[in-house]
Amino acid sequence: MGLSRRDMNWKKWSIRVARLRALVRAGVVNNEGFYTLGGRLALDFANSHERVGREKDGLASFEDLLTFLKSHRLLHEDEASDLHMFLFQNPARCQKVIEGLIQLRHEFRQVLADLSSGWPANPDFMTKINDHLAGFRSFLKLEPASEGMVLRTVIEEKGPEKLMFPIVRDIADFLASDHVEKTKSCANEDCGLYFVNLSRNGRRRWCSMSTCGNRAKVNAYLKRQEA
Ligand SMILES: [Zn+2]
Repeated sequence: MGLSRRDMNWKKWSIRVARLRALVRAGVVNNEGFYTLGGRLALDFANSHERVGREKDGLASFEDLLTFLKSHRLLHEDEASDLHMFLFQNPARCQKVIEGLIQLRHEFRQVLADLSSGWPANPDFMTKINDHLAGFRSFLKLEPASEGMVLRTVIEEKGPEKLMFPIVRDIADFLASDHVEKTKSCANEDCGLYFVNLSRNGRRRWCSMSTCGNRAKVNAYLKRQEA
């Protein structure tokens, strides 16, 4: 007896959920399927075109951006619901934010490709980041935390453009840090994920052992069997 279409879909869905859960447990992705193996926000953003369990771009819509930021604990639920209202009132402005971020990610990935092959970062990109940074008016604010207090940078902007701030800021921080020399792309050429190589011996080759590393190990094993 064959499976009905409904059963097949259910089976596919449950395989997908099981795969996502395993990758969450391994610390490779978060609950929303966004990769968290970059080692910092800037690189997780660079990797956000891929989202486990989804075929299209991980940041295909403004809602996706809200989910990305919430799942990285950079946006509170109530702020997100305000921005949902904003999306309803002014979809064009929200669309502009998401398009700006997709373009920024594209250019940042080119910079990462240059850096990981030993080239310096394109100075035009620095100018672009500076233009973004100049557009944010911010102030510092002391807030209670779970233990003691925390000093936060607050953005005066209330509109959807404020969502770019944590990303732009971490890209700037990254470019000014020693993570630049430690950035690598996964050794699997079909993968395209970037990470900061903080392994003690500096020999990390794969985005994660649970995905590309394991696949490479299995392939090497099969090759040995063939020989
Ligand atoms: Zn990989």
